[in-house]
Amino acid sequence: MQKFSALSLLRAGLTGHVGWQRQWRSPEPKPGYDVIIVGGGGHGLATAYYLASRYGVKNVAVLEKGWIGGGNTGRNTTIIRSNYLFDESAGIYEHALKLWEGLSQELNYNVMYSPRGVLMLAHNIHDVQSFKRHVHANRLNGIDNEWLSPEECKEFCPPLNVGGSMRYPILGGALQRRGGTARHDAVAWGYARAADALGVDIIENCEVTGIRRAPTGEVVGVDTTRGSINAKRIGVVAAGNTSTVMNMAGVRLPLESFPLQALVSEPVKPIFPCVVMSNTIHAYISQSDKGEMVIGAGTDVYTSYTQRGGLHIVNHTLDAICELVPAFRRLRMLRNWGGLVDVTPDRSPIVAKTPVSGLYVNCGWGTGGFKATPGSGEVFASTIAKDEPNKINAPFTIERFRDGAVIDEAAAAAVAH
Ligand SMILES: Cc1cc2nc3c(=O)[nH]c(=O)nc-3n(C[C@H](O)[C@H](O)[C@H](O)COP(=O)(O)OP(=O)(O)OC[C@H]3O[C@@H](n4cnc5c(N)ncnc54)[C@H](O)[C@@H]3O)c2cc1C
Repeated sequence: MQKFSALSLLRAGLTGHVGWQRQWRSPEPKPGYDVIIVGGGGHGLATAYYLASRYGVKNVAVLEKGWIGGGNTGRNTTIIRSNYLFDESAGIYEHALKLWEGLSQELNYNVMYSPRGVLMLAHNIHDVQSFKRHVHANRLNGIDNEWLSPEECKEFCPPLNVGGSMRYPILGGALQRRGGTARHDAVAWGYARAADALGVDIIENCEVTGIRRAPTGEVVGVDTTRGSINAKRIGVVAAGNTSTVMNMAGVRLPLESFPLQALVSEPVKPIFPCVVMSNTIHAYISQSDKGEMVIGAGTDVYTSYTQRGGLHIVNHTLDAICELVPAFRRLRMLRNWGGLVDVTPDRSPIVAKTPVSGLYVNCGWGTGGFKATPGSGEVFASTIAKDEPNKINAPFTIERFRDGAVIDEAAAAAVAH
């Protein structure tokens, strides 16, 4: 693998950028693998990387129906934080956050993790009580989160409209300073490159159309648009398409798929120093390194498999943004797009073995899984390699919806990301 360093970049810059190599191979599928990962998003690629790097399983293929990172991984607004309420969620998201902190070094690829702080605004008494409860719960789990007064919010993020006449005034906010953003494409590319260097085959334009099972029930391989491929173990990480793929093995999951949108403005000079989220009026915003304001909207009300959402959802989000930051009324929006998110009844993920021997699933990250990418990949790799859950992902079973041991972040966190 070509190594990146300050010296190699300088040398390339001075010699006309002629020596760059392909960052990963484009291999033909082999007849069989020890493990097949279905879905070349960040979670699938991270799983393959950790299987090879930490668990010694290198005969692995990642099958992606389009191009890697072309799903939600390349479409999201990249908010990273770990200040979730329940111990189980705090455990998995904090595991991810710790991995983010050293990820560029580990992959030798700049994923542009930027811990610029995530400020979650409170607009009513319920928000204040709920966020203060989060602050206390997070501290008990050793996770940073602090309460800011409206004046402190303004000091941390000067463009905010604090104290003006607002339909929903800002009454304070919860700030996780270690939270922030990363560059989504770089995350997919960095994992792909590092996994490829360890021998993982990344096979794009290869849609899985069937999952084959032996008469005794265990998986034996997949059918794809590029032929049949054998595998003893299959990990499905297909986000909004998970229920469709799992149906191929006869497994039903409690998932619904919704379009979720985001949009960006024209680029402007650096003006917005952190990430701001407001669940009550539903908007979240940060500034990209190019200068665009990156704005997240909500999910459509109805389930769908389209990767575009309703215009009224975007309009509603812009109403909220203009109230939060009145100066942005003059910004022009450049483009909007949609992803396809898979949502469980308790809004927490499933990272687990399934009732079918050799079949594993990682899904249900809904509107907030980008931040979990490294942690999710690491624990899923461990689950596949050892054929038993890691202690961090052990609570995130399918059976919790039957047994009632739900991890109800929907009601508790009350935030989209
Ligand atoms: C607009 C938007 C904003 C978001 N904002 C945030 C945010 O700020 N912070 C955050 O933490 N999360 C956010 N999310 C959620 C986050 O993007 C996802 O939870 C996360 O990226 C899921 O990663 P993944 O690798 O599981 O899925 P994906 O990246 O969607 O990867 C799944 C892959 O599976 C492939 N696939 C599907 N079916 C098949 C098949 N049959 N055969 C082969 N391949 C198949 C797809 O093509 C896709 O590439 C947002 C999502 C959207 C859409």
